[in-house]
Order: sequence, then structure tokens, then C-alpha cells
Amino acid sequence: IKNTNPFKKLNDEIFVYVAKKQKEIDELKRLEQFRREFLADVSHELKTPIFAAQGFIHTLIDGAIDDEHVRDKFLSKAAKSLDGLDALVKDLVALSQLETGEVKMSFERVDLAQVVHEIFEQLEKIASAKRTFLKLRVDRPGPIWVKADLQRINQVMTNLIENAIKYGNENGKVLVSLEEDKKHVLVAVKDDGPGIPPEHLSRIFERFYRVEKSRSKDRGGTGLGLAIVKHILNAHKAKITVMSKIDKGTTFRFKLERMEELKLAASKQNVQ
Ligand code: ADP
Repeated sequence: IKNTNPFKKLNDEIFVYVAKKQKEIDELKRLEQFRREFLADVSHELKTPIFAAQGFIHTLIDGAIDDEHVRDKFLSKAAKSLDGLDALVKDLVALSQLETGEVKMSFERVDLAQVVHEIFEQLEKIASAKRTFLKLRVDRPGPIWVKADLQRINQVMTNLIENAIKYGNENGKVLVSLEEDKKHVLVAVKDDGPGIPPEHLSRIFERFYRVEKSRSKDRGGTGLGLAIVKHILNAHKAKITVMSKIDKGTTFRFKLERMEELKLAASKQNVQ
């Protein structure tokens, strides 16, 4: 027997509609909560370097400026706080653009080996200050092509290598390896530093999460580096994993799609 109840269909439709609206409300609530927490975190993080710089400058104005030694020390401390503030604002802008999807990725054929070489050159100063040895391991000489956004993947590799140096030991070793399989390049950034305690491992990709707050800040960290890395890799459909052993070291891994010349030529033709 056919269901002739005319209200049944209407009832079902209303039910679906209400469920949909409820879902939208939940999502808005979640976003609002996220926005509130983000704002609280950001203002807290901004206050620290501002208060520090203010403190040094006011102490100078109040008379410390007359002592040459104190003056130089306080001025360089104030400058350091402001440099930290500058880095923080830059990272915040990058992260918020990534989170809102404001910037579109521009994928192209990138030579990852070349990217790593350039980063090693840029980081040579901080590496040699800690007598850290930087090494790239590849299966074969020549370019290692991947499909990536050049600027963003450069940022990912820089953040990971810089962390490996920063949190690694003196006289340590940082090894970047690029391993090709059929479709992907497996990237690993490995250090032989003190490692990350297991209870912190799942949280290090959260914004402003630091294992040792003061140590990270001493090293000029904003606490946003790994959050930025995770977002950029997400946009590359890549998932980052971390493995760490106390006193042995830490390894970050992810894989990117390979991109050979032929494939690029084909995809260019498609566009035209
Ligand atoms: P930060 O700006 O503090 O370096 P990140 O988001 O880059 O922020 O890293 C988050 C935290 O993860 C760091 O504060 C540090 O405690 C820890 N960390 C990251 N990389 C390493 C590493 N290679 N070895 C040990 N600890 C690390």
C-alpha cells in the first residue's frame, strides 16, 4: 500500500533541513571558539616582546643610559626583543593566510636537492656557530624533481632544518635525505639532538606549542614554525610524521609527488 500521508515527505524535508542548519551552527560555534583562543594566544605572545623592549627602553630613559656598558647591553636586548616581535608578526601573517586559504599554492616543478643546497648555504652561519655538520643524502646526483610551491616548500625545509640545528647538540649532525620511489620523493630531516619527550610529540604541530618555552624563545623561536610546516604540507596533500628518541635524536618525514620533465610538458600542453 502506497504511503499517502502528505505530511510524511514534508516532515522528512524539515528534519533534513534542521539537521543541516544545526551542523552549520556547530561549525560557526567551533570557528568562533577557535578565533577567541587564537586571539588570546596571539595577544599573550605579542605582549612578551613588547613588555621586554618597553622595560629596557624605560630603564635607559630613567638613567641607565649614562652607564656605557649598561646602555649597550640594554639596547641590544631591546633590539633582540623587537627582532622577535618582527619574526612573530611575519609568521602570524603567513599562518593566518594559510589557515584562511587566502593564498593559493602555485605548483611547479621544483628541484628539491637544489632547494636544500641553498638552505644549507643560508643556514651555514648558525650551523657553524654550533659546529653542526649539515649533510644531504640522495640516491643519485642531479636534480630531484617534485611538484611543489617553490617558496612554500622552501619555508618547510628551512623551518625543519633550522629546528634541527637550533634544538640539536653542539657538534651535532643534521641529515636531510631525499629518496625517490616510483611516484614520490620521501623527505627526511634527521638530527642527533636531545629528542622530544613522547608526551609532547603529538602536540608540537600546534601553534605556540613549545616543549621548553624559555629554550625555544632563547633560540629566537616563535612557536609557529611547525604549525606553518603542517599547513603547507597539507596543501601539498602531504602528511608529516615525527619520530623521536630521547638522547638519540628526532626525524621528521613526509613525501611529495615526483614530477618528471615529460609530465610537466604534458600538463603545460593541457593548460594551453
Ligand atoms: P619554535 O619557534 O619554538 O621553534 P616550532 O613550531 O618550530 O616552534 O617547534 C615547536 C617546538 O618543538 C619547539 O619549541 C621545540 O621544543 C620542539 N622541536 C621542534 N623541532 C625539534 C627538534 N628537531 N628537536 C627537538 N625539539 C624540537
